[in-house]
This record gives sequence, structure tokens and C-alpha cells, in this order.
Amino acid sequence: MSAFEVTATDGAARAGVIRTAHGDIPTPAFMPVGTKGTVKSLHPDEVRALGAHVILGNTYHLHFRPGEDTIAELGGLHAFSGWDGPILTDSGGFQVFSLRDTLLAVDDDGVTFRSVYDGTQERFTPEVAARIQAGLGSDIAMCLDICPPPGVPRAELEEAVRRTTLWAARQLEAERAPGQLVFGIAQGGTDPELRRRSIDEISALGFDGNALGGLSVGEDRELMFETVAWAAPLLPARRPRYFMGIGDPEGILRVIGAGIDMFDCVLPTRTARTGSALTWEGRLNLRNARFARDPRPLDESCACPACERFSRAYVRHLVTQDELLGLRLLSLHNLRFLLDLTAGARAAIARGELQAFTAERLARLAAAPKEEAS
Ligand SMILES: [Zn+2]
Repeated sequence: MSAFEVTATDGAARAGVIRTAHGDIPTPAFMPVGTKGTVKSLHPDEVRALGAHVILGNTYHLHFRPGEDTIAELGGLHAFSGWDGPILTDSGGFQVFSLRDTLLAVDDDGVTFRSVYDGTQERFTPEVAARIQAGLGSDIAMCLDICPPPGVPRAELEEAVRRTTLWAARQLEAERAPGQLVFGIAQGGTDPELRRRSIDEISALGFDGNALGGLSVGEDRELMFETVAWAAPLLPARRPRYFMGIGDPEGILRVIGAGIDMFDCVLPTRTARTGSALTWEGRLNLRNARFARDPRPLDESCACPACERFSRAYVRHLVTQDELLGLRLLSLHNLRFLLDLTAGARAAIARGELQAFTAERLARLAAAPKEEAS
């Protein structure tokens, strides 16, 4: 039985269901990021109540603190963290390659780097990435890949593509947890030929799902959207397609329109930590004095636990006083905002009205005032 079923299509976009060992994931799906085994400041029941069906855990961080052996001994990441729904873990590759100062050497076998926690030398290979994720017991494991920063010489990008394929083939044969799905990752930046080559090579390996990596890493945004528009449809149609690292409202709508099924981003919780709220009026910086006597909720159309009960004035008060509840309310709201947007897009696909839905939302975003400085 296939782990993925497409239930509706609308242009290039699709709605569907991914079946995992810990439940179904309706797609398109926004995945809140629980870097260290927690969606920052939120109880798992709250995350579930917001409408999240899957969360993401970071292999790199969990490997170093507290370690996959500890987590495995305590029943795996689901039992350890109290989240009993589907979990996707990344491979750790993104952290290894984005923390450039700690990178020591890359060869065909793997990558050597220093731990960001205590500087000890460490080595990741596809087999290590598989073993850690098997220990964590995630429902979806990701392949170790090489994600170069934008603007690297083409030869470096080509080498990243070559090694990413080499590693993907090895990880496919490596250890996995019972019922664990494994997704491959295509690299190639925005280079048409290399991206296409990587997609062909990764697709040919026959993973349970496929991701576009190495995009949304600081390259020109329009070029990124152009790339996803032609690249996403090249990924196997019968398997889930994952765009790694996008989660702003416009980005979500555009990758869904291109045929992407799942995506993740730290934006909602990181934005909360800066004291800001995502709304249809734009991004509100609650530190701004203009909210001091504002009785309205963060967003009039939102039914999250923050908007149901609290005013902008109160949230501003909490934020300016560094009260923990301020961070929690903003995290709840921002996550709900993006989960609602994704659910709205899913419903629009089922009705065959995604284009109108997207146009209306993008128009609202375009009319919103520019983000205020914090
Ligand atoms: Zn809200």
C-alpha cells in the first residue's frame, strides 16, 4: 500500500494524505519546527489543537543533546517529547553545512565538523544519519545531503549534487525504524541543469517521498519561486513533495501552487520571539507604542487562544515586560495563522478554487503595510 494518496488536484497543486506509523498527515501540510524536541514554549496538546498534524525534529541538535541513545532508551522521540503524532526528522546535513565555521572536511564518504555545543570533532555519514533517525524513531527520515550556500561556484554545486546522490543511494540501504519512511533530497540550487540532474538521480532511487533542498537559503526570491515552479512538477507525482525551509504566507501559497505537499519553517516561533505577529494587516511589531491602547485582537479573523481572549494592548504589555506569556501567545497565534492558511489552501484545492484563493490572499498581503522595524 502506498503511503501517499492524492485526493484532489487543481492545476499543479494537489491535496492528499500521507499515512505514517503515527497517523495520517493531510496535505498540503505546514510542519511546525520542534528543533530540540519542543515547538518552543508550547505543550504538544496546544500544538495539536492549533491544527498541526506533523512536527519536525532536528537530528543535529537531538544527537548532541540529549543524544539518540538516551531518547531511544526512553521510548523514542514520540514518548520522550509527549507528541504522539507524526514526526519528520531532518538529517542534520543542513545544520552541518550552514554552520560554515564548524565545517572541517567533506569527502565522498561523509562530512567532518565540530559540534556547535562543545567543539568536539564529529563525523556524519549517510549511515550515521540513518542510525540517529532510527534511534529517534521518527515517522519520516531525511537523507543526509549537501546544501551549499547560494552563489557558490558551479563546480562546487555540481560536486554537492554528485555527493548528495552518492549518499542518498547509501542511506536507502541503511538502518531505519519500523515503519519509518525515508525521503530523498534534490539539490542543485537554482541552476536549471544541475537541479534537473539531481531530481532525476534522486527520483530514480525510489524514495517514499522527495524534497527540494538548497532553496530558500538566501538566493533571489523570485528566482527561487521560478525554480520551484518548474522543479516541483519534475518530482515523482505519486510521492509526497517537500519544500524544505519555507513558511511565510506568500511562500506557502506559491509552493502549494507549484505542487508541493509539505513545508516547514521556524518563522512563526522565531517571529514570536522578536515580539511580532503575522496578520492579514502585515507583520505587527507589538513593541510599537501604537498598540499600547489597542483593544483589538492580534488578527480579527483568527480564532487562536490568543485572539479569542487577549488584546493587542495586553500582548504588547507582556512583550515589553519580557513576560513568558507574551512569547507563548504570539507563538500560538503565528502557528495558527500559517496552519489556517494551509488548511484554507487545502480546502480551496478540493473545490478547484486555489487560484482565486491565492489571488485574494496575495492581494491582502500586498495591501498590508510594510513590516515595521523592531
Ligand atoms: Zn490568533
